[in-house]
This record gives sequence, C-alpha cells and structure tokens, in this order.
Amino acid sequence: MNMESCEPHFLFVPLMCPGHIIPLMDIARLLGERNVAVTMVITPLNATRFGSVIERALKSGLPINFLQLQFPSTEVGLPKGCESIDRLPSLDLVGKFLTAQSMLQEPLEEALQGMKPFPSCIVTDKNIPWIATTASKFQIPRILFDGTSSFTHICSHNLHKSMVYEHFSDSEPFVIPGLPHRIEFTKAQLPSSFNPGSNKDLMAFRQTVKASEAGAFGVLLNTFEELETEYVKAYREATGFKVWCIGPVSLCNREILDKAERGRIPAIDENQCMKWLDFQAAGSVIYVCFGTLNRIPSLQLIEIAIALEASNRPFIWVLREGYKREEMETWLDEVGYEERIKGRGLLIRGWASQVLILSHQAIGGFLTHCGWNSTLEGICAGVPMITWPLFAEQFYNEKLIVQVLDIGVGVGTQQVVMHFGENDKSGALVKAEDIKKAIDKLMDAGEEGEQRRKKAAELAATAEKAVAQGGSSYLNITLLIEDVMQKPKFNQTKF
Ligand code: UDP
Repeated sequence: MNMESCEPHFLFVPLMCPGHIIPLMDIARLLGERNVAVTMVITPLNATRFGSVIERALKSGLPINFLQLQFPSTEVGLPKGCESIDRLPSLDLVGKFLTAQSMLQEPLEEALQGMKPFPSCIVTDKNIPWIATTASKFQIPRILFDGTSSFTHICSHNLHKSMVYEHFSDSEPFVIPGLPHRIEFTKAQLPSSFNPGSNKDLMAFRQTVKASEAGAFGVLLNTFEELETEYVKAYREATGFKVWCIGPVSLCNREILDKAERGRIPAIDENQCMKWLDFQAAGSVIYVCFGTLNRIPSLQLIEIAIALEASNRPFIWVLREGYKREEMETWLDEVGYEERIKGRGLLIRGWASQVLILSHQAIGGFLTHCGWNSTLEGICAGVPMITWPLFAEQFYNEKLIVQVLDIGVGVGTQQVVMHFGENDKSGALVKAEDIKKAIDKLMDAGEEGEQRRKKAAELAATAEKAVAQGGSSYLNITLLIEDVMQKPKFNQTKF
C-alpha cells in the first residue's frame, strides 16, 4: 500500500503490553478502513507475537504500516526478549521496563525525521509521558489513548477530589460522592494509586503521566456513548478534553480468522474449539479467562478447578502460563481432573480466541478478571458476567457491570491483589464454594437471571448499533478524522 498518498497519517505508539496493543491494532484497522494511514510502533518480540495480525493488516490493502524499533531490554537489566509487561519475571522490574520503553524516544525521533507522509498526529498510550516532548519538538498534535472507561475516570476523579475513603477502615463500605449511581467501594478495593505506601517509583511515574496529559489534543476511548452517557459527559467536563468514544473496537473483527487470531495464534485450533462448543446447549457454557497479566497461584487455581467441576456445567477454562504452573499441572494429573471433566470441560493452556469463543451461542456466562477489554468483549457478546476483579481499575469495571449495568454477579473479592509470581503470597483468597455460588446465581434460570440475560442482550445490540454506519462510535471516528484534518495546534508540554 502506498502510504504517501494518504492523508491524514496517524502515528501510534502503544505501551508494550497485550491489553494495550490489541485495541490499538483494532483502531488502526478502523482508521485504515476510512482511508487514514496508520504507522504503528512495534518491537521485535511483539512483532513476532502479533505476527498473524500484522500479516493480515499488511495484506489487507489498508494503509497500515509498522515501524519496528529495538526494545533495549538487556541494556536496562531486563532479561533478553522481555519486551512486554506480561513477560516481566517480577513486578519489581516495572521501573526498568518503563525506562526501556522511554529509550524508544531517540530511535523514534530519528525515524520521524524522514517519515513520509509526516504524521498528522501521534496517538500515544497515555502511560508514555515522554511522547509529550517528542510531539512538541516535531510540532505534532498528540492524542492520548486511554484503555479504560469514563466511569473509571469519574470514580477515580471524585475519589481523589473528595478523599472520602480517608474516613473509613479498609473493609468499611462507603459511597463515591457525586455520581449518578450509588457506587459502593471499600478502601481495600481501591487501586494502588490511592495507597501512598505502595511502590514509590510507580507513584512518581503516575504523577509524571498525569502532568504529561496537559497540552494533549484529546482522548480516544474504547467505549461507546450509550454505555455510559452520563459518565462520558462528566469526563468531558472534568478534563476539558475533546473525547472521542469509538468502541467497542473489538467489533471490527468480522471474519472468523480475525476473531480467532486476534492478539495471536491460539493454543487450540479454532475449529476444534468451535466444534466442541457446537455440541453444547445454547447459553450453557461458562468461559473462564483472567486476561494476560495475572499469574494466579496454584492454590487459587485449584479452588477454581473444584468449583467448575462441582458446578456440573460445561466450561472452557483458559490457563495461561504462569509462576510455578507445574504445581497446578501436577495436581491436575494426580486427581485425574481432565478425565473427570471429559466432554464437559475444555482446558486451554495458553492463548484462547476469546472474541470468537464469546461470540458462540453456547456461551452463557463469562468469569472474568474485569480487564476493560474483556469487559467490553463480554458486553459485545451479550453474555452476563461473573466478576472477579484483582487490581488496577478492575474493581471500577466490576461496579459498572454489577451495580450500573446489572449484567453480572460478583464472586465476592474484597481486596486488591497482585497475582504476579514470586512476591505473591496471597494463596487462595476465594474459595470453591463461593465461586460455585456465583456460577449458580449467574446461570439461574429464574426471573433474576432472565433479567440479566435480557439486559446483556440489549446492550450487545446497542454496541453493534454504535459501531455500525451512522452509529455514535462510527460518527465519532468521522469527527476524530475531521478534527485532525483541521490541523490542531501542537502542545508545548515537555518531560
Ligand atoms: N485475550 C485473548 N486470549 C487470551 C487472553 C486474553 O484474546 O487467552 C485478550 C482479550 O480478548 C482482551 C485482552 O487479551 O482483548 C486482555 O485485555 P484486558 O483488558 O481484558 O485484560 P489485561 O490482560 O490487560 O489485564
């Protein structure tokens, strides 16, 4: 594809982490389909991981290109090939990872010198503050990509402003002030940014990120206006930013192969998985997946295994590679787990075609860690959810699913927990009995369960409408392109 004839030209700079790269890949496609050229920065490991997606993007004839930059992992003391946050051996190394990501600035600026066509704007993950300096130097407008919802922002904003949590103990519930809904939280469920004692480097980094937001041209959100109308409005008011809600972006994957290989090649052939699902009754299967970052300890995995077996329902369970995973494998072998659940349970060790699986009519419930991408994907599939938030903004997403949208049942997690390997001493915080209870409640055939399913189906239809021609997200993409074409002023913020 000849990129030189395309205008405008968006330069994408993702945070090297699957949950941040995947939606940006979808957005590249959505813009490419509108004849907007996109160049996406990528690193060698991520180029290999996303190889099938990149190959299809290049073959599609859409004006999408990739700029590969070496990721200096070993230079900062990270293991070789550690180019994505999910590859970090320990969370203590996040600081080094961010340093390595910031070292992309020099090669990126070199590439920018001769880039043709010259970028009309930079779309940067909001967690890359140094892009503000680059954008300023090259006089390119900067748009922040924020992979969360307006609801999360407004909850967080109102909490920081009111500091209401200061008057309560860790486990005492309080209501977040100034919201259109009654949202209850406890201090123990708040993200680590509310805990001054947490990782000092990360706290300092967050402040830099916050300060770097000044001067941005606007914010791209993977959400749709109808999902959280009042919160989008409040977000615009609170930040003063132009906000383009253009999601759910996963819906751009229409072909089976695009859904099957979204992210990467799945560990189980999609045909095998779909055939297995074809044999299950409509709305009967629980799909279990905790995203790309969590390394849930064996003791907790065992509780999940027991609950899934005891639920007496069909299930697909994605077991990602993780810290001391062999302990879990030994247990599975010793108890003959796979034999016991044969025909009723499918274990996927590694990457699953999540969007494809969720779209199958046999799926009746999604046990999720409430990452924002997964939350939206559950919404798009019209599947009610069992919410099991762990950290970051996941508790906000749980509140949205359960308390605002009324399409989910909480598993009952009471506190933030970082399942990330070595330093994780949490063990099994949620017992099999409680997991089973949540499954039973969600899959209940009675009035309450029916209402949730109905609401979930309605929301899915609204999401489809939002991205269809003439829908709110479709129009917001048009507005975004028009806004960029009007050549906004670049920002002057430096870091
Ligand atoms: N995902 C997938 N297959 C997997 C695990 C994850 O396709 O086996 C995708 C999922 O569909 C979602 C993303 O990875 O798009 C995870 O993002 P999310 O925000 O839900 O969670 P994170 O991994 O960032 O915590």
